[in-house]
Amino acid sequence: MSQWVFRGIRTGIRTTAYPRAAERAAGVTPGMPRGGDFGAAAPAIVARCLTGALDQAQGVISVDSRRCVHCYRCVRGIEQPLNWEPTYEWAAAAARPTQELGQPFRRSIHILVVDAGDCGACLNEVKQLNNPYYNMHRLGFFITPTPRHADVLLVVGPVTDQMRFALEKIHKAMPTPKRVIAVGACALSGGAFADSFVCANGVADVLPVDVAVPGNPPPPLAILHGLLVAVGRKASERLAPDEYQAAAQQ
Ligand code: SF4
Repeated sequence: MSQWVFRGIRTGIRTTAYPRAAERAAGVTPGMPRGGDFGAAAPAIVARCLTGALDQAQGVISVDSRRCVHCYRCVRGIEQPLNWEPTYEWAAAAARPTQELGQPFRRSIHILVVDAGDCGACLNEVKQLNNPYYNMHRLGFFITPTPRHADVLLVVGPVTDQMRFALEKIHKAMPTPKRVIAVGACALSGGAFADSFVCANGVADVLPVDVAVPGNPPPPLAILHGLLVAVGRKASERLAPDEYQAAAQQ
């Protein structure tokens, strides 16, 4: 026991300073492609994206981060690669009117995590929030296994047909006010499983999504940003009002 105490004192605090300060350590994010004016090269770049995340008009490329699966085809093995930003504050909040959060959301928040057909990647990143480096407990975020105690429903996966009913029941069992966070490309657009006969095209097909966290998988800091956006403690920097919801319902 004493060995652990001395070791801890020697090592010092290694927990990220985010959200108090930006985290710049190497490896905390895979980054995200960003569009721009690529002129005559734009159609060839857009054609390399197999998930329809890229679009272009008169040479200007736009990125639908909801659909990006981080395959890097738009940056690797290509003459004119797309811009790539080493950011992680990717969460976008829906602009529709939400319920008053009230007193419970000013204190500790309990999160129910539901795997709705996830491959394991996004779930693994969510688990990292509990480790000493990200330590979400210092920010008042705790995991709960019961919907009756949950303020936030965090969903990963495209929502398989087998999980649809369970997800609806869980959401109904949660007290109000509540928030729904969809995490990862599959939860936002179906990802690689989009238009499959066995699943929805993301959580918004089943439940009203309050906050969308793109990425495939999103790094822990992006998920942490999503939680902070959900409870109104961080601005949604990549705000795309209702874009996620509308696109998922097309
Ligand atoms: S990384 Fe892959 S999925 Fe994402 S925009 Fe580029 S080509 Fe499309």
